[in-house]
Amino acid sequence: MKTVLITGASRGIGRACALAFAREGYAVAACWHKNEAAARSLLDELSALGCDAELYRADVADPAAVEAMAAAAEKRFGHIDALVNNAGIAQQKLFTDLTAADWDRMLSVNAGGVFHTCRCVLPGMLRRHSGRIVNISSIWGISGASCEVHYSASKAAVIGFTRALAQEVGPSGVTVNCVAPGVIDTEMNANLSPETLAALCGETPLCRIGSPEEVADAVVFLCGGKARFITGQVLKVDGGFLGG
Ligand code: NAP
Repeated sequence: MKTVLITGASRGIGRACALAFAREGYAVAACWHKNEAAARSLLDELSALGCDAELYRADVADPAAVEAMAAAAEKRFGHIDALVNNAGIAQQKLFTDLTAADWDRMLSVNAGGVFHTCRCVLPGMLRRHSGRIVNISSIWGISGASCEVHYSASKAAVIGFTRALAQEVGPSGVTVNCVAPGVIDTEMNANLSPETLAALCGETPLCRIGSPEEVADAVVFLCGGKARFITGQVLKVDGGFLGG
């Protein structure tokens, strides 16, 4: 049985990924951070699907916590075949209001977290000459977004990281790709006004925002056999928002 480790699995896109991988027959190692109730309800849902699953609490910005999580998951499941780096935070602020602490936290969770998990999980993949890594970036990491300079920079970093690591570990049978979601219906967007949401839908060729499940489908695809010759790519799941 294949095992996937998913960060930020308690809510939103990560939770949809956990359920989608479970339906594909994967065992799921699900990382959460602050929301224990959501994590426990995910475990119940996974168990109801007959999935072999375990929860791990870790702040992905903390290298020691990530090391402990990866070691525990490898011991429990024997191997990690796919790693989905989904955990992330967002914040809207004028650039001139950003503090050094805002910058450091954004970069250490959104980009640092990807580094820490890959550093811990890759050695096993390299030993087995097989593995799939999918990093969740954002369309704002491609185009940049006003009032989200630190978020956009962190997501652009994830894209650069993905392209470079894909080149380095391709010869060892490991693929590394990015999914760049557009506006997706999760708690991360709970503060968007109905007017802003309507404007975003109006600018989207498919005329709506996306669902977490639609992002999860792309992630599962990139981890599956049908994506075996795809690496170093950034797959936009944005209803056409950014164009080609
Ligand atoms: P969400 O609903 O806010 O959920 C965020 C998840 O990340 C939660 O499970 C949370 O865990 C976890 N998390 C946050 N900080 C963490 C940390 N330091 N360590 C470990 N886990 C942490 O967000 P979402 O919308 O599903 O977003 C998921 C990913 O997609 C993020 O990387 C985000 O940047 C990206 N994305 C989202 C959108 C969108 O429109 N929603 C668009 C483009 C990209 P707890 O709840 O347990 O703390």
